[in-house]
Amino acid sequence: MSAAAFLAVALALLYRTALSNPGNATGNDHAIADRAAALCGQLQDHLGPSRIVLPSNPEYTELREDNWSQTAWRRPSCIASLNATAEIASLVSVLADNQIAFAIRYRGHSPNPHDSNIDTGVLIALANFDEVSSDAGTGLVSMGPGARWEAVYGELDKYNRSMVGGRVMDVGVGGLTLGSGLSYLSDLYVLACDNVVSYEDLL
Ligand SMILES: Cc1cc2nc3c(=O)[nH]c(=O)nc-3n(C[C@H](O)[C@H](O)[C@H](O)COP(=O)(O)OP(=O)(O)OC[C@H]3O[C@@H](n4cnc5c(N)ncnc54)[C@H](O)[C@@H]3O)c2cc1C
Repeated sequence: MSAAAFLAVALALLYRTALSNPGNATGNDHAIADRAAALCGQLQDHLGPSRIVLPSNPEYTELREDNWSQTAWRRPSCIASLNATAEIASLVSVLADNQIAFAIRYRGHSPNPHDSNIDTGVLIALANFDEVSSDAGTGLVSMGPGARWEAVYGELDKYNRSMVGGRVMDVGVGGLTLGSGLSYLSDLYVLACDNVVSYEDLL
């Protein structure tokens, strides 16, 4: 068996900042939407169109619909597709300073509408954080939160080992582990979260 050292973006307490009541848009909601759109434009100017995707960009629809369930297909003001942990911390700081709400998505398997997508605000999509490596000596696996279980089991296959993880290969290690994580091995080795050795806190 292997345990996991896990890169966690400790944004969970922040991303739920609710902006508006869907379906009852007020003047204030429109003002917030305008502010979010303006900030998204500035972010794209600064970070480039490959990192900040606006609704007018061709990749937008595919990215906004990357959540597993249609219940979570929302219309973010823009989608930030980042590659470096320092970029996440900087972006969150800018969004907090400007009071723009955001959601974090790893592999997007939560069907709850606003868990990992957002209507007005910024969707931070972290599927790029999908690195997986292991150390046969310590038996530890390091996983980016955007990794899928398929990649984790594939890495461990090299050593003929397995770990307490998801039962469906496509699910993300980030959401499953933070949500406790029921595994085929749970009767013997409890939950995925019980096997995490450490998290990296980015904020
Ligand atoms: C087909 C399917 C099969 C499933 N099988 C199993 C199973 O076998 N066992 C089981 O226990 N569950 C299972 N689930 C439930 C699944 O674990 C949850 O939906 C989980 O949230 C998915 O993780 P994700 O990274 O793909 O999702 P996301 O929707 O991207 O993330 C879920 C939530 O966690 C937050 N989050 C994710 N990573 C981090 C992080 N590093 N830091 C802070 N916040 C974070 C996101 O913001 C979001 O709110 C299954 C779900 C589906 C749809």
